[in-house]
Amino acid sequence: MSYIHRFIDGGPCDLPLGKVVCVGRNYAAHAKELNNPVPSTPMLFIKPTTAVVAIDDAVVIPKGKGTCHHELEVSVLIGEKLTNATLESVREGIVGYGLGLDLTLRDVQDRLKEKGHPWEVAKAFDGSCPLTEFVPTGQVTDPLTLDLQLERNGVLQQKGNTSDMITGVFDLVAFMSTQFTLLPGDVVMTGTPAGVGPLESGDELTLTLEPHLKRYISVV
Ligand code: ZN
Repeated sequence: MSYIHRFIDGGPCDLPLGKVVCVGRNYAAHAKELNNPVPSTPMLFIKPTTAVVAIDDAVVIPKGKGTCHHELEVSVLIGEKLTNATLESVREGIVGYGLGLDLTLRDVQDRLKEKGHPWEVAKAFDGSCPLTEFVPTGQVTDPLTLDLQLERNGVLQQKGNTSDMITGVFDLVAFMSTQFTLLPGDVVMTGTPAGVGPLESGDELTLTLEPHLKRYISVV
């Protein structure tokens, strides 16, 4: 089934699916766990529309390509065209917040990093960006202090708060808009907290964005 953007209350969302702009190493504890230096400016990459799938009740991981890691992230749905945007236009241009998985073929990525090559094949493959529905901005308590967590088979793996981001949500979207024009329907992934790890077929995941979203998912 092809993906369409949805809001949690089932409200209509007529924004087309666009690109997904992501940031690496936006939580210091996560950069450290992979022995990566914290970059001085946000390190950006893009996933194409073919990476996006809806998180309904299953996430499909690639087979035969080595380890596939979960990276739980707060996702942001863009509703306005943003180029060199001010913080004010960023605030007005975000229509919703949700959760997404930045699925990563870690063994493939490690080999690419060693050679200094781009990461796309490790990060941008089909289905590499499962997204939940979005919570409309007006219902979100405070985007700068959201708790997110991922449990795998009942064990807490990732826990973070958006206040721990090195570049906060609004500054991050503003910076992205100086590099790539963001269009209505584009999605921003805001980086992952520490605790990333491998997924296996048969895993059961619980994804939580307090107090807005809780999703139970099987890994296939
Ligand atoms: Zn990520």
